[in-house]
Amino acid sequence: MGPPVLAGLPRTSVIVVGAGAFGGWSALQLLRKGAKVTLLDAWGPGNSRASSGGETRVIRTTYGPERLYTQMAVRALQLWRENEQRWNLKLFFRTGVLWMAGTTDDSYERAAMPLMKEAGVRFEKLSSADCSKRWPQINFDDVSWSVHEPDSGYLAARRGCEAVLNAFLKEGGEYRQTKAIPRPVANNRMQGITVTSGEILNADSYVFACGPWLGKVFPFLAPMIIPTRQEVFFFGTAAGDLSFTEEQLPVWIDNGKRLFYGIPGNHWRGFKIADDTRGPVIDPTSMERQISTEGLAAARMYLRLRFPALADAPLVESRVCQYENSTDQNFVLDRLPEAENVWVVGGGSGHGFKHGPVLGEMVGDAVLGLKGPPKELGLSRLLKSSSS
Ligand SMILES: Cc1cc2nc3c(=O)[nH]c(=O)nc-3n(C[C@H](O)[C@H](O)[C@H](O)COP(=O)(O)OP(=O)(O)OC[C@H]3O[C@@H](n4cnc5c(N)ncnc54)[C@H](O)[C@@H]3O)c2cc1C
Repeated sequence: MGPPVLAGLPRTSVIVVGAGAFGGWSALQLLRKGAKVTLLDAWGPGNSRASSGGETRVIRTTYGPERLYTQMAVRALQLWRENEQRWNLKLFFRTGVLWMAGTTDDSYERAAMPLMKEAGVRFEKLSSADCSKRWPQINFDDVSWSVHEPDSGYLAARRGCEAVLNAFLKEGGEYRQTKAIPRPVANNRMQGITVTSGEILNADSYVFACGPWLGKVFPFLAPMIIPTRQEVFFFGTAAGDLSFTEEQLPVWIDNGKRLFYGIPGNHWRGFKIADDTRGPVIDPTSMERQISTEGLAAARMYLRLRFPALADAPLVESRVCQYENSTDQNFVLDRLPEAENVWVVGGGSGHGFKHGPVLGEMVGDAVLGLKGPPKELGLSRLLKSSSS
């Protein structure tokens, strides 16, 4: 079934560039709000270079003092669940999320709880003694206490992007695999985009959701949205050992001296561990995606401390991905200053995937003039800080 069309009114046409978590959901939500939408991607939704291209992504509501993201995560989870039901697909895995507070500073966790309560999230505050009893596989040394969110978990990432594209096509959207280059701006409006074949495509509005490529597409954004190299490791457990699967362990995030996090199970890929520390700046097109010996050694050292039974577990898979960091780690959703028909959405900064459906709603409302985006996501804050 296509989107509702009001008799006599032409549908607003929108071209969305980028079919990752942000662009795919933006295209789908724009379509559902009545626009005629064309979605373009250079390599395809959740491709190996894309930031949305991993196996799994955490969805949690523990967000420190950030009311906006706490509320967005709650709405996003609701939308993921509604849509997976609609598509008869499993994309959300309710494993629970355990957020561990470090011993030197627990202000992030303390600030999170009132906002989670306000947003109606179920959670428990657990001592490390409580946690050790419940999850004896984890060594809670250097953890002061933890927040457990029983209703959160993880999302299937690249499969999620593919599911969004399939829904978009089924609901009447058009998709093309092609590179898009913005054409010049005249009279405060961009004059279409050029695609790989040389053809020029035109629409009423354009949304650029190019993830880590945003600074390449619009060079003025390069100092504000910076891609950094991130490594992810999957370790193998013993044959038949169920104690490190998602039935027995939640997703965990360890906010210690360095933030490590992981997802057990992962569609049988192994026990996933990643270090959230920002790596070197990279080019997402040409980076060779091989893990570093230092990265692997750090992951192993961490494993030895926190999951001692896995100290000698073999590495069974790995991925090299990137975060597209805005300078303040907040997302961007705004119009281009010099072109009123162009919107950019990005700056996921290592926590964007879960928010795809809700950012998509915001993009739909903003582009169609129904509701302005949250001011926290505006470009002016980044422009100000990059010129100061
Ligand atoms: C290792 C790792 C772990 C993460 N963990 C989490 C997590 O646990 N929870 C969470 O919520 N988030 C997490 N994130 C962050 C999250 O994955 C990203 O914020 C999110 O996927 C960004 O989506 P995007 O659509 O902006 O970018 P992308 O997924 O990169 O999509 C951009 C798309 O644009 C296309 N494109 C670019 N330029 C052009 C062009 N000129 N023409 C046509 N197409 C173009 C690309 O091909 C790409 O498909 C993690 C990220 C990484 C790397």
